[in-house]
Amino acid sequence: MKSEAKKKALKKYQQTAKGRYVMRKAMRKYRIKLRIEILTHYGNGKLACRVCNENNIHCLSLDHINGGGTEHRKQIGGAVKLYPLLKRQGYPRGYQTLCMNCQWKKKGGPARRNIPLT
Ligand SMILES: [Zn+2]
Repeated sequence: MKSEAKKKALKKYQQTAKGRYVMRKAMRKYRIKLRIEILTHYGNGKLACRVCNENNIHCLSLDHINGGGTEHRKQIGGAVKLYPLLKRQGYPRGYQTLCMNCQWKKKGGPARRNIPLT
């Protein structure tokens, strides 16, 4: 727990241009670290798609195994809050790391939009 004096000093620092810059950089670094941590956990110990082994982090996403992802994101107030929430909850079951191609395949992809599969 931070002391009141420290909290005050931090708040004052965040009001300066340099403070905001430093905080933004630190937050970005933390979000990337958290993303790697979460996707590795739900990828069964490796940073890759559970179906096709795609390992480019830019293609990877977290899948709600039983669906309902859109509704869940609405409930918690946005996708950016999902990873910190999962960490706080101690990695609950019901999620897996998938690449976006496998996400689309799972959801039905083009077939859902009546585009014939070739
Ligand atoms: Zn995949």
